[in-house]
Amino acid sequence: MKLGGVWYREALTETAFFSYKIKKLIYVGETRYQKVEVVDTYDYGKCLILDGKLQSSAKDEWVYHEALVHPLMVTHPNPRNILVIGGGEGAVLREVLKYDSVVSVVMVDLDREVIEISKKYLGEFCKNSFSNGKVKLVFSDGRKFLEKQPKESFDGIIVDATDPLEGGPSTLLYTKEFYSLVRSRLRKDGLMVTQATSIYHSPQCFSRIYKTVEAVFPVARAFKADVPAYSSAWGFVLGSKKYDPLKLNPKDVDRMLKERKIRNLKFYDGLTHQTMFILPKNLRKMLQKEKEIVKDSKPVFMAS
Ligand code: SAM
Repeated sequence: MKLGGVWYREALTETAFFSYKIKKLIYVGETRYQKVEVVDTYDYGKCLILDGKLQSSAKDEWVYHEALVHPLMVTHPNPRNILVIGGGEGAVLREVLKYDSVVSVVMVDLDREVIEISKKYLGEFCKNSFSNGKVKLVFSDGRKFLEKQPKESFDGIIVDATDPLEGGPSTLLYTKEFYSLVRSRLRKDGLMVTQATSIYHSPQCFSRIYKTVEAVFPVARAFKADVPAYSSAWGFVLGSKKYDPLKLNPKDVDRMLKERKIRNLKFYDGLTHQTMFILPKNLRKMLQKEKEIVKDSKPVFMAS
């Protein structure tokens, strides 16, 4: 094995890391909010890295983004107004815009520069989503933006924020106070979904985020997808005021995707929906045993 050259290295825990050999450094800089790197790697193609955490890789970003977006969109019978909190590289927008029922998508990201850098170097992730007439871009803290919105404004709220790192900009997007605010801004049958970190390397984050969403929403469901570039199965948590994704069988999901003319997915379909929501015994036990609810006064942090 040849270990020469330049390598990207990311901590999984305080005692484990993964590393990818870099073909080309495309962009390295620092915004007001975070360190930004765009690199081309041998195994995963172009990658966006924020504060030393890999956000998206060309090879499998579609797994993460389809998993985050489509269960919510399919579980809602007619999603029209969607809010994306975070979403930097624009791939969440790309997936949401596949639904003709959507009349508006507001994307609120803290960092204008991440969007500009993504447009310049990662056009294949966002396609033309930022220039779509249904999209409104707002540069602000997601929570502050939500506080100013009228109640019951959205059918779906998708939280695609960076991981909760100590001192990072997104820690207050994973707390009970935040999810209560999200709930109040959703219509009576609205749903929210959030990424919930690595199931195996930050299990406490995953189970606490689930427990916290469960404390706020009548329906809370944890699910997972394997994202090879993250070197882990990734966790997601969906909170709903009415509809339950577990009530959809594979045929229902496939029929709805067909009726809504969503044909070009690579990861998500009826069977994938079912398998994502079926967690193995050890994870079910872990979620059942979890007692801690994340609060503003006691946030949860992932290893950095
Ligand atoms: N796919 C990613 C992942 O989980 O690895 C997350 C994607 S996206 C690039 C994360 C975005 O969240 C970044 O563009 C960052 O600027 C934004 N963000 C972080 N904290 C935020 C906040 N408080 N309000 C709004 N956006 C925030």
